[in-house]
Amino acid sequence: MLEVVIVGGAGRMGRALLEAAEDSSDILVKAVTVRDASARAAVAKIISGTSNQAATITTDLTEVIAPKTIVIDFTTPAATLTHVAIAQRASAAMVIGTTGFSQQQLAALNKHSTALPLVVAGNFSLGVNISLALIRQAAALLNGDADIEITEAHHRDKVDSPSGTALMMGQAAAEGLGAPLQEVATYSRYGQVGARQPGSIGFSSIRGGDIVGEHAVMFACAGERLEIAHKATSRLNFARGAIRAALWLSQQTDNGLYSMEDVLGLR
Ligand code: NAD
Repeated sequence: MLEVVIVGGAGRMGRALLEAAEDSSDILVKAVTVRDASARAAVAKIISGTSNQAATITTDLTEVIAPKTIVIDFTTPAATLTHVAIAQRASAAMVIGTTGFSQQQLAALNKHSTALPLVVAGNFSLGVNISLALIRQAAALLNGDADIEITEAHHRDKVDSPSGTALMMGQAAAEGLGAPLQEVATYSRYGQVGARQPGSIGFSSIRGGDIVGEHAVMFACAGERLEIAHKATSRLNFARGAIRAALWLSQQTDNGLYSMEDVLGLR
């Protein structure tokens, strides 16, 4: 049985992780961290009567981390970077689902990964990770014949845009085209923006209601259109993917920055 620490247990994904951990016979939650002590009671209520009811609930990750502990983190970019530094000092390992990292923060994560093993994924669902291979292949096969546009829709409380998943899909398409994403991405259009730049990859975001996560990559060609789309209907699929990643990570001996495609053997 693998023991894990879930940080941010009171959040939407924290709750989904606790539910998925309860459904899994391979995982035991050793501890849950919360940002504010006021969230302790809410987490205690969620785990009460479950196989994880003995988990320590704390505001301080350093109290519950030890060498080889696997920490699962779906919080905020700033919090995750603090947690990675703690995990590095403790010789632990992390599964990171937080999205919205700046380039600077991603570089910091990269640097940490030389000292501890990290699985970082903007999306832990099986379907999305399979779609990345399809998107990469379609972009390579259509090789400049298609205008690539990525649309994503999420709930009203999501704070980053475009979503981490849309960026992963853009990265896969850019790899298929053989171009760096930052050189071909168009993140906004407003006013007299002129005709579409050939070879560019466009992003559009919708925010509203309780949409869990919808993504579509459109390859618009002359006379036809190919679309690769994914719809998440529950956060449990991300949580189950993160638990699968934790189990996989517990078998890794090398430090490094791993993706969900590595976990699923898709790369
Ligand atoms: P949320 O706001 O509901 O939850 C975030 C939680 O993190 C909050 O409870 C907050 O109190 C907690 N937190 C913040 N700082 C903390 C700290 N220092 N210590 C402990 N807890 C702390 O958000 P959410 O919908 O659960 O999403 C969280 C993140 O996961 C976002 O970046 C989101 O985009 C991402 N996400 C990723 C995937 C994926 O598959 N990779 C799927 C869904 C959401």
